Amino acid sequence: MIIISLVGLSLVPFVHADTWENSTITVSVTDNEYVTKSIIRDIAITILDDREEFEKFAGWNNALNGTGIQFKLVAENGDIQINLVNHTSTKKYSAFTTFESKSPGIISAAEITIYEIEEISSHELQMLMRHELGHSLGLGHSRDSDDLMYPIVPYYTSYISQANIQSIESLYN
Ligand SMILES: [Zn+2]
Repeated sequence: MIIISLVGLSLVPFVHADTWENSTITVSVTDNEYVTKSIIRDIAITILDDREEFEKFAGWNNALNGTGIQFKLVAENGDIQINLVNHTSTKKYSAFTTFESKSPGIISAAEITIYEIEEISSHELQMLMRHELGHSLGLGHSRDSDDLMYPIVPYYTSYISQANIQSIESLYN
């Protein structure tokens, strides 16, 4: 399947301006019939996995080391809420991130929706989660087709790069 992910309604620049105020951003998965142990494991990998190959990271926390920002998986009421659904997006997206903002420039909450959860592989779920967590930190889309933040998430290179980290550092410093 083609993995397409968009944030917002139009093409956005490489970074958007909004950022989190808190340095620990909690993440939880909304409990429903699609939540399984293996899905929770796949989501955890995209946050906690410390594999690192050719300076590309599988998990965000290792990549974010040194930025002061970390994700934390919690059982419920996360700053970022992940919703797993099995229907198709009306706009044919594979995943989507929306934000809430209580004051200008500050992200107060985010919601990540993953569509067709029973149709995607474990690898595809991890690709999508890494990409959407990138959006949740404030990254927009890249024009580089090998980049995690390319709108059509690259199957083999969907890992977190130094370029992604530098973009986050420029946003938060
Ligand atoms: Zn996207």
